[in-house]
Amino acid sequence: MANCSGRLDDLLAFAVGGGVLSPGDLRFLLELERPEELRKLYAAAYRVKLDCIDNRVRLRGLIEISNICRKNCYYCGIRSGNTRVPRFRMTRREILDAARHAIDFHYGSVVLQGGERNDPAFADFIEETLREIKALPGGDLGITLSLGEQSEEVYRRWFEAGAHRYLLRIEASNPALYAKLHPSDHSYAERVAALRLLRGVGYQVGTGVMIGLPYQTVDDLVGDLEFFRELDVDMIGMGPYITHHDTPLGREFPTFGSDAERQLELGLKMIAAARLLLRNVNIASTTALQALAPDGRERGLLAGANVIMPNIGELAYRNGYLLYENKPGTDENAETARRNLENAIAGIGESIAYDEWGDSRHFAVRTGKKSRE
Ligand code: SF4
Repeated sequence: MANCSGRLDDLLAFAVGGGVLSPGDLRFLLELERPEELRKLYAAAYRVKLDCIDNRVRLRGLIEISNICRKNCYYCGIRSGNTRVPRFRMTRREILDAARHAIDFHYGSVVLQGGERNDPAFADFIEETLREIKALPGGDLGITLSLGEQSEEVYRRWFEAGAHRYLLRIEASNPALYAKLHPSDHSYAERVAALRLLRGVGYQVGTGVMIGLPYQTVDDLVGDLEFFRELDVDMIGMGPYITHHDTPLGREFPTFGSDAERQLELGLKMIAAARLLLRNVNIASTTALQALAPDGRERGLLAGANVIMPNIGELAYRNGYLLYENKPGTDENAETARRNLENAIAGIGESIAYDEWGDSRHFAVRTGKKSRE
């Protein structure tokens, strides 16, 4: 035990000082279980967050614009094969109203997230909507998109219309694991290619994975962290896997991950390891953490995350966007959610960076371009 603790202290001091962790080091960190060791891990990651960024939380008002998706991922509640979910799409006016909420609440940024569609009408709709959001009086919002795989031309049009960050989760960076989680016509290679296209167009690029999946090993998670580093991503959005029973994966493994605290802990370890490895990237403390524990998002911040995405979309649609079950926030209106969030963040000694875009510091460093943090 003494040796293990000595190795942990040395490793954390090395990482806090800017040393690059090896795959073996990352595996060691992800396998930690004793509460005292976990406390040290999270504290070291928090130290790096303070050194490389600060303790102010960047907000993105999340607008879930539609649950219509052409894909059929085996784990996802809004997969095209799920006929039990009523489908919705927000109108442009509704999206603009939500963006106005973000301005009124001084969030600084929004995320437009939705199922994947690649028909020309959708590309046009998003392009025009982006232009109208950018033209809203009283606010110059930063815009992140999370709308799946698109052509380079579409990515470019949306970029030119005002989006400047894009989140495209790889979900599982091991191609063999990816193949177990997706139908055969969902191409791993195309997804990776899309991430490269986004970078070429000029976006701040984010990706992420599900943590604690059936079939997933610790080495897969180590590989995920290495994947983020090799791709030199600017943002990470990852969260614990939560079963949705109306999906093939949920039916095959109905009780998988039912130890909520263990799933949460694995998610926090991944956040901490990502912060130690990648240092100045933006890392989201996702809603999936909060689904596992009421204070899950705050614990994500204390483990090294620095971004939160409160939902500001229309409450009426919220229950239609259940990617997994027991998703929190589906009965809160945006104002209540904002107040609760502000209190929770103050409770852990952090504050909110209101009216800021919260761009990735990593992007500014890697490109030498000016960004708006
Ligand atoms: S995970 Fe994304 S791409 Fe896959 S079915 Fe769900 S919304 Fe569609």
